[in-house]
Amino acid sequence: MTGFSSRVEAVSISGIREVFEAAGEDAINLGLGQPDFPTPDHAREAAVQAIQSGAVDAYTSNKGTLELREAIAAKHARDNDLDVDPGDIIATSGGSEALHIALEAHVDAGQEVVFPDPGFVSYDALTHLAGGTPKPVGLREDLTMAPDAVEAAITDDTAAFVVNSPANPTGAVQSPDDMREFARIADEHDVLCISDEVYEHQVFEGEHRSPAEFDESGNVVVVNACSKAYSMTGWRLGWVTGATERIERMLRVHQYAQACASAPAQYAAEAALTGPQEPVAEMREAFRERRDILLDGFAEMGLECPTPKGAFYAMPKVPAGWVDEVIERGVVVVPGEAFGENGAGYARISYATDTETLREAIDVMAEATAALD
Ligand code: PLP
Repeated sequence: MTGFSSRVEAVSISGIREVFEAAGEDAINLGLGQPDFPTPDHAREAAVQAIQSGAVDAYTSNKGTLELREAIAAKHARDNDLDVDPGDIIATSGGSEALHIALEAHVDAGQEVVFPDPGFVSYDALTHLAGGTPKPVGLREDLTMAPDAVEAAITDDTAAFVVNSPANPTGAVQSPDDMREFARIADEHDVLCISDEVYEHQVFEGEHRSPAEFDESGNVVVVNACSKAYSMTGWRLGWVTGATERIERMLRVHQYAQACASAPAQYAAEAALTGPQEPVAEMREAFRERRDILLDGFAEMGLECPTPKGAFYAMPKVPAGWVDEVIERGVVVVPGEAFGENGAGYARISYATDTETLREAIDVMAEATAALD
């Protein structure tokens, strides 16, 4: 058999899957990164209608249907106070593809990409696949990423840095001042800021702001998706926005690798973005309630956990052996080191599960913690 590219050899299959596979069938799964709610009915129905009418039988425009891109532009005006031209949007196969084409279009071989550590696993992998060099930066005590740390990590070889707020795996939310600073850094150092905003609607304290609001040089691109906001992870629909020249370059990658995002998903996404937004608020409230239950549980166990202000993850500091002990007792959690070296000594707990199951899992985590004392 022939060999493989060095880029792909630098990447391994995500450790998170291995954790699922190791756990028994009856395990309570607090390892999943997806909401446990149904996709809103109006989004499903729009896809069904589009299928029945034959509207989805052909390729759409490479960037996505104009109607979807108008809906995305209207969303940015409504939620982010941003004026985005529908021409400066590419609908992608989830936020994942948006991250991929952003890095592929901007990173040259050997160039560096700065991102949070612990951080979402794709940043490291997609940097390697683009031929770049990952440059993870450690986080503040509250698990937010300090603009100073990003600025200190930037060298002449830096192509881009990634901001993720609210963040996976930490649940941390960056302040508006941080976001302003990230835009300034992108401008002053002339590097790309990729802002991954897929959890923007899951903010419990503070507010979601985008570095794009403060962008004066066209050096910020925004990655977003319907996945987490509308519980549409299986639909695979995200998007990227940015300056016209950047969109044109990213389209070159998207056009040849993907042609266009799945048409049924585009119709569902358009309906999700333009239809009633109550499901988004309902999910947020459910996540907030569960977060509080989980934080009370950690406090009772004596585990220190920076208060996650968003997303649906918590990242407590845990004693050595804790993750294995919890998994052995039938609750799947993810070891912090799956998200980078600085994740060691932490665990990621996803609370995208109903409160009854969450309480059961808390009892198991408490037993595991006591057993290690
Ligand atoms: N960005 C972050 C921070 C994520 O956690 C995820 C998914 O877990 C994604 C992007 C990718 O989302 P999608 O499912 O839309 O590809």
